[in-house]
Amino acid sequence: MGKITGFMEFERIEEGYKPVTERLKNYGEFVIGLTEEQSKTQAARCMDCGTPFCNSGCPVNNIIPDFNNLVFEGDWKNAIEVLHSTNNFPEFTGRICPAPCEAACVVNFNGDAVGIKSIEHAIIDRAWSEGWVTPRPAKVKTGKKVAVIGAGPAGLAAAQQLARVGHDVTLFEKNDRVGGLLRYGIPDFKMEKSHIDRRVQQLEAEGVTIRTSVLVGSWPKDSKVTNWAKETISAEQLQKDFDAVLLTGGSEQSRDLPVPGRDLQGIHFAMEFLPQQNKVNAGDKVKDQLRADGKNVIVIGGGDTGSDCVGTSTRHGAVSVTQFEVMPEPPEKENKLMVWPYWPMKLRTSSSHDESAEKGLLQREFAISTKEFIGEKGKVTGLKTVHVEFKDGKMVEVPGTEKEYKADLVLLAMGFTNPVSTVLDAFGIEKDARGNAKASTEFTGGYATNVNKVFAAGDMRRGQSLVVWAIREGRQAARSVDEFLMGTSDLPR
Ligand SMILES: Cc1cc2nc3c(=O)[nH]c(=O)nc-3n(C[C@H](O)[C@H](O)[C@H](O)COP(=O)(O)OP(=O)(O)OC[C@H]3O[C@@H](n4cnc5c(N)ncnc54)[C@H](O)[C@@H]3O)c2cc1C
Ligand code: SF4
Repeated sequence: MGKITGFMEFERIEEGYKPVTERLKNYGEFVIGLTEEQSKTQAARCMDCGTPFCNSGCPVNNIIPDFNNLVFEGDWKNAIEVLHSTNNFPEFTGRICPAPCEAACVVNFNGDAVGIKSIEHAIIDRAWSEGWVTPRPAKVKTGKKVAVIGAGPAGLAAAQQLARVGHDVTLFEKNDRVGGLLRYGIPDFKMEKSHIDRRVQQLEAEGVTIRTSVLVGSWPKDSKVTNWAKETISAEQLQKDFDAVLLTGGSEQSRDLPVPGRDLQGIHFAMEFLPQQNKVNAGDKVKDQLRADGKNVIVIGGGDTGSDCVGTSTRHGAVSVTQFEVMPEPPEKENKLMVWPYWPMKLRTSSSHDESAEKGLLQREFAISTKEFIGEKGKVTGLKTVHVEFKDGKMVEVPGTEKEYKADLVLLAMGFTNPVSTVLDAFGIEKDARGNAKASTEFTGGYATNVNKVFAAGDMRRGQSLVVWAIREGRQAARSVDEFLMGTSDLPR
């Protein structure tokens, strides 16, 4: 423990943001990380609890009190060793994780949590700038071949773990670049893509073969899900060529809103809109890019994806941005006595909400349901809504609350229902009730599907989730695959 009285002496400080006017001019990151001195005082707030709830609140079980102490002592090199021992990509989570560890922090019970995420961010950025993040190729090769399908955070973490214990890993990705939703989905202003590129170089130096634009299995013809594959490889071929196959294809099927008028032009899934901007930021040309300039935008869905649509529409130059959420408005502050150390239900206002509100564009509506899209000459011009409430566990309309909203662009951001099933079907994988790949997370034999030598992890197994859960599942599945191939494994869970 760095400083016994630190949690009483120092206030929590948040990372800084560049001014709204400046950050809206581009798609670059705008968070200003803690300085060395700030990191030290923030780390001093950690009480080094006997039972560190932060550690179990964190899906990758980061050893938080230890790296806090090391930062306090100025031993940044060992701090990154501790952080990397549980998390392959702290620069991803240090930027975009909602930080369930902080909700679980003991200081959060009756005060402000230790700023764990900002400390993580500071440690990994320092490690990269000091040149401490280097490839760690295996000393001994096993001669076993593993195919990993899908290069999101789950596939990347699994590929790295498997290569580091000596397996020959090939990572297949249908899109033209690696990263999954980190690359195509999450806006660059939340996480610039150079962070993925650096890790790709590290993985390649560790012996991972990366094959982009290669689709495994088949793909539905009318699918709106991104697929820039130029080549296809069959499930049978992979099963023949590899000793084990790990499916980390994500949960990419967007939830639709099949109300009257859905086929009007100008109504799109968020995942048609956001990846196009990622591509443009990467220097690609996108023909007829979906843009929000001069438009009244309605975003249906109140989560992360919806908030990312708000941030991107604001940068495009929308004239208004309205976000709908079907659930009632949550309280501004949680009742910590009731919810700690669990993730609280409370009103979340993102940096995208703040900047859109500062420009006078944003309207947020809760407990609202869309009944119909209306349009002229085949194009959407608005939508009809009604307020809803929950009675006896059922959602019912509130009479007399019908309203019409103007809209030139509607973005559907209501989450994802399940993986695109064709890849699972190609391997004959059994699915759970929600259409995800069925596999347990048991210590022994976890992540194995019903098909011999085929495993599944990440959103493809657990359903739509978070980057930190994908990294956890990728790491744990890698251990299971290694154990399957070698009879035993030294990889951590
Ligand atoms: C807009 C948006 C914002 C988000 N914001 C956050 C956030 O702020 N914080 C957070 O923690 N989480 C966020 N998430 C969720 C997070 O991105 C996902 O939970 C995470 O990326 C899942 O990782 P994954 O590796 O399981 O799958 P994915 O990231 O979905 O990657 C799967 C990859 O598999 C590829 N693939 C699929 N099928 C095939 C096939 N047949 N052949 C070859 N390749 C295939 C796909 O192209 C994709 O690249 C967000 C999600 C979205 C959509
Ligand atoms: S719960 Fe909070 S105070 Fe306790 S060890 Fe973890 S970060 Fe430190």
